[in-house]
Amino acid sequence: MIEDKGTHTMQTETMKYQTSCADDVDSESIRVEEARQRILSAITPISDFEKRALRDALGRVLAEDIISPLNVPAHTNSAMDGIAVSGDDLPSSEDRILEMIGTAYAGVPFKGECRTGQCVRIMTGAPMPKGTDTVIMQEHIEFLTDNKLRIGITHRPGQNVRQAGEDIGKDTEVLKAGRRMVPADMGVLASLGIGEIYLHRRPRVAFFSTGDELRSIGEPLGEGEIYDSNRYSLYGMLSHLGVEVLDLGVVHDEPDALRHAFQHASSMADVVITTGGVSVGDADYIKPILTELGEIGFWKIAMKPGRPLTFGKLDNALFFGLPGNPVAVMVTFYQFVQPALHYLSSGEIKLPLTLKATATSPLYNRPGRFEYQRGLLTQTADGEFEVSKSGKQGSGILTSMSHANCFIFLPEDCASVQAGDTVMVQPFETFV
Ligand code: AMP
Ligand code: MG
Repeated sequence: MIEDKGTHTMQTETMKYQTSCADDVDSESIRVEEARQRILSAITPISDFEKRALRDALGRVLAEDIISPLNVPAHTNSAMDGIAVSGDDLPSSEDRILEMIGTAYAGVPFKGECRTGQCVRIMTGAPMPKGTDTVIMQEHIEFLTDNKLRIGITHRPGQNVRQAGEDIGKDTEVLKAGRRMVPADMGVLASLGIGEIYLHRRPRVAFFSTGDELRSIGEPLGEGEIYDSNRYSLYGMLSHLGVEVLDLGVVHDEPDALRHAFQHASSMADVVITTGGVSVGDADYIKPILTELGEIGFWKIAMKPGRPLTFGKLDNALFFGLPGNPVAVMVTFYQFVQPALHYLSSGEIKLPLTLKATATSPLYNRPGRFEYQRGLLTQTADGEFEVSKSGKQGSGILTSMSHANCFIFLPEDCASVQAGDTVMVQPFETFV
């Protein structure tokens, strides 16, 4: 089972999946979750690794366990500006006068020893002087002269002190192989003095658009021609994931040109993505050519948009033939390609985060398929989530995707939604 290979880190839409009488609507269609499982089970995560500078690690996957070579903090130190004293010297029934015998700075420790009745002025981060284990903050001290001061009875032994190794102990495991590096991890490794680490190689992803009607930016548009937008939204989504991106341009709906492009792409990439040409029109060649050159899994998925999806293998590369409609490209990318790339790079199964929100307007749905509408998610003053449609929902209407910040997904057993009903949403920001 796929689940054995990693952990579901997030709640997913599967929670909404129950067998429904609407399954019969198109008996050839498979469910979103099943398509995703089939894709994930065809993937072997990348195991090659390379040594890289810490600064290059963000978003990438660690290939080694990190064991701390030192304690963090390295020495027991003050968490406040104030005075360092021995806990034994703290008064319990009446104020006490102490003699101040020196100063400890962060980076310039006090070298002497503090004895009974004495204290050392101390700055935040300075190592605790010998004979002290407690810090009294500046605001709780009354200076009587330059080196005499009074303290009260409200202090606890050991207060305001950070113990050596309280964050990370020497020889303990700090980060595990397989971890995707976040900004805090970079700081943690820097605090250990680690400047180079082993990371898994990033997946190489090659993509091209297919269609005789497509022109690239900069070319004049002839009759019936359109600019290729899919390559740009794909480029954006891939760049967010930190993979290596290879843009192979536009390929015409000609079998030989497509064969050549398939072979060229699979010779240099771990993953090949195409858009267009996966339906059953006369110029839809992706499916037959993948059958000829590789292994095919072609599915009709019970979802809208994005119903036809071609997935397979082309030599050693994974192949995704996404639909041509610009919104369908983005929906299928987020639902299938992104989890696949995540799994390929880290061996971790991470599906889109789902939240509940209240619909503020009615939403139309035809039961029997998963519908991904583009939504605008907002938060009310009392912290509740509300969602509305972000514009017209046709699968060619890319502006409603551009205005959206989430998908609203209406499960297969869900009839239309009324204002005030609860729906499930997937916020875009948490996809990565
Ligand atoms: P297809 O899947 O090739 O039948 O394309 C479906 C629709 O998406 C058609 O209206 C195409 O013109 C459009 N389309 C296909 N590829 C692109 C692209 N790269 N950029 C913009 N629109 C496209
Ligand atoms: Mg086409």
